[in-house]
Amino acid sequence: MKKVAKFGGSSLASAQQFKKVGSIIEADPARRFVVPSAPGKRYGSDTKVTDLLYACYDRAAEGKDFTELFDKIKERYYEIINGLGIALSLEEEFTNIRDQFEAQAGRDYAASRGEYLNGIVMAAFLGFDFIDAAEVICFDENGEFDAEKTDRMLKARLEGVEHAVIPGFYGSKTDGSIKTFSRGGSDVTGSIVAKAIMADEYENWTDVSGFLVADPRIIKDSKVIETITYRELRELSYMGATVLHEEAIFPVRKEGIPIHILNTNAPEEPGTLIVESTCRVPKYTITGIAGKKGFASISIDKDMMNSEIGFGRKVLQVFEENQIAFEHMPSGIDTMTVFVHQDEFEQKEQKIISGIHRAVHPDYMELESDLALIAVVGRGMRATRGTAGRIFSALAHARINVKMIDQGSSELNVIIGVKNDDFEEAIKAIYDIFVTTQI
Ligand code: ASP
Repeated sequence: MKKVAKFGGSSLASAQQFKKVGSIIEADPARRFVVPSAPGKRYGSDTKVTDLLYACYDRAAEGKDFTELFDKIKERYYEIINGLGIALSLEEEFTNIRDQFEAQAGRDYAASRGEYLNGIVMAAFLGFDFIDAAEVICFDENGEFDAEKTDRMLKARLEGVEHAVIPGFYGSKTDGSIKTFSRGGSDVTGSIVAKAIMADEYENWTDVSGFLVADPRIIKDSKVIETITYRELRELSYMGATVLHEEAIFPVRKEGIPIHILNTNAPEEPGTLIVESTCRVPKYTITGIAGKKGFASISIDKDMMNSEIGFGRKVLQVFEENQIAFEHMPSGIDTMTVFVHQDEFEQKEQKIISGIHRAVHPDYMELESDLALIAVVGRGMRATRGTAGRIFSALAHARINVKMIDQGSSELNVIIGVKNDDFEEAIKAIYDIFVTTQI
């Protein structure tokens, strides 16, 4: 059994957190490869080391004195090292990093040092090998991630290695310069390593006990999703639910390696298992609810629209020419409605309206703003009668006017449009009917 265990920034923010990680690694010999983030926040108003590094480097790049911020970063690591009581000096590393800052080695280089140094500390603490991600995570000359080369390099480097720490978030380009993934990218590194070693499981340790059925800012004490499929996760993440970096699912998904979201502060809790497919029956009919505010709709009416071949294409072409992506497009016999992001649309509104007039000569058009979209997602919906009925009666009881309904043919989700002001109440009503009352 082989596992990759990735730990997020809050799991590694202090010596105390490192000790929890140590116990977790010790508790399961399969946890042989560890991918750490940089130290995150110790408390709400604290600053992540990555943000300190960016700020520090920006001063260096402007030719300003950056000693104060640099010392703050050093302090964060020494607080951890001293708290762990390990004999490790990072002085040489810090001197080198300082020189590189002065030589303006780049923002990516600067940010990557958070994970790099944390990897060295973690390897010393656990007694594991340290493998610099710059050796094994490869980007091409344009800065695009090179999956194939990375896989080859990782496989070769990890051959015969029993235990190793590989820092997350960065790699190197063909010219040797450092390149990072986007923020939160250590999740991606963990997934890439898990694929390369064909891990049995990719554990992603964080500060929540898994993926929640609904946003905890709206539903206090929301239940945790026990098992979720990659497709369900995509639907929910797209609608704003975040725990994992969006790109982290691709490397492991292809190989059928499950991702297990776990809580460093409560390792005994089961967490959420993300899998390709499962015959485990979901606890509730729905798996999760997520949504976003800030949409606008453009409804277009024209008699006999249904017999006018190419009508939809012409309308969508106007959006394409104005570089506006559309979210949903429910239609009737002689009407179609296009949902777009309001902030993007507002800037080009008049151009798009005149474009549609010219393209399809509609009888009339109606715009509505301040709309929210809610996705009710669940693989269990397909086999359950009356799911849509329950959603809409719950919304009716809560006196919420439904503006739009869209059910994907996969029956994996139902998308509901409501006014922005009804957003929170709508989510509560749906959560209550499926989870709280569990009927
Ligand atoms: N430390 C980086 C960030 O704050 C990457 C990560 O934590 O995954 O975005």
